[in-house]
Amino acid sequence: MEQTDIIIIGAGVVGLSIAAQVARKNRNVILVEKHSGFGKETSSRNSEVIHAGVYYPKGSLKARLCVEGNILLYQICKENSIPHNPIGKLIVAVNEEQIKDLEELLEKGRESGARDLRIISSKEVQEIEPHVTAKAAIISPSSGIVDSHRLMKYFETVAKNNNATIGYGCEVKLIEKVPGGYQVGMQDTDGEMLTLFTRILINSAGLESGNIAALAGIDIDRANYRIHYCKGEYFQVRGGKHKFARRLIYLSPPQPGSVGIHTVPDLQGMMKLGPYDYYVDKIDYNVDETHKELFYESVRPFLPFIELHDLTPDMIGIHPKIQKHGEPMKDFIIVHEEERKLPGLINLIGIESPGLTSSPAIGRYVEAMVKEII
Ligand SMILES: Cc1cc2nc3c(=O)[nH]c(=O)nc-3n(C[C@H](O)[C@H](O)[C@H](O)COP(=O)(O)OP(=O)(O)OC[C@H]3O[C@@H](n4cnc5c(N)ncnc54)[C@H](O)[C@@H]3O)c2cc1C
Repeated sequence: MEQTDIIIIGAGVVGLSIAAQVARKNRNVILVEKHSGFGKETSSRNSEVIHAGVYYPKGSLKARLCVEGNILLYQICKENSIPHNPIGKLIVAVNEEQIKDLEELLEKGRESGARDLRIISSKEVQEIEPHVTAKAAIISPSSGIVDSHRLMKYFETVAKNNNATIGYGCEVKLIEKVPGGYQVGMQDTDGEMLTLFTRILINSAGLESGNIAALAGIDIDRANYRIHYCKGEYFQVRGGKHKFARRLIYLSPPQPGSVGIHTVPDLQGMMKLGPYDYYVDKIDYNVDETHKELFYESVRPFLPFIELHDLTPDMIGIHPKIQKHGEPMKDFIIVHEEERKLPGLINLIGIESPGLTSSPAIGRYVEAMVKEII
């Protein structure tokens, strides 16, 4: 049986970043992905926002990896000509109560390490975003947008240049703990099964990460690793209205467990609204067109220029959540499973937003774990 040092499951932005970090000339690293190329799931179905880390609890992995990821991401984009734009974010208050919430959010964001946050007045908002309604706003200049496809291509190239092998069209079907590592059974697109031995197995399978942990023998309900699907829905803004707001604009306070429907400008100069988040039992990528009115009503208080007929259905991404509907937000799980008597297995579970922003920092975090094991 072929032997390898590290197998990574899943070529989303997280698996690719990990591959770019752990690949070395003297290490045998294989990244396996069930689709024919990278980023066919959540990593290409998101807002492409470089978050500053305003919303995450102090000391959480989400806060730490987002703040570090924000800095690393801008650096990577600049050095490698990856399209990005630090357009900045406004979190706006439209009434007195929300102004108090802004102050609290500012404090929390600063404690969590988010850079450059400050509150600006209604007049200042008018100067920079004249079509937006706000009594005050938090401004986050280090928030921006990035071309996620080009970022993933960059990570793939670094991984390949450092000797990693990438197996597209390979779906992991079996995992067996054996002395010194794992036997990993995978099926190619012709239905052929191949089994490899690896010392270290890294599960970054996104929406399937809970099921992969179960394949490795973990009781995912007891461990709280079961993934709950939560659709994130977008509508496109038409009728020339995309020109009416340049920044990422959110309403304060965020809905529990979600940052709420906001403007999502893209690098082509167009604009979506979203995501509207709701739990589902099955994965499908159909937009529910009946939600149009809900989108309209949600943004009316701060984006008065948008009219119902400006909105057209756009796309869906699925959040891999470990919290059920109504439960408070949970942190990323990134753990070496020694305590479960599965040494060499590293699980990444519930890598929802800000997973794209955090991806370069997650790669480093996992590399530090790998160094301890090898
Ligand atoms: C609506 C929405 C908006 C978001 N907006 C933002 C944002 O603006 N900014 C931000 O920072 N983050 C955002 N996120 C979060 C971000 O998109 C994710 O955290 C990130 O893409 C997760 O990457 P991943 O590599 O873990 O998962 P994925 O991209 O899902 O990759 C996992 C891969 O594993 C593969 N796989 C699964 N099972 C197997 C198997 N058995 N064998 C082989 N391969 C397998 C899959 O095919 C897939 O390619 C958003 C997410 C959503 C849903």
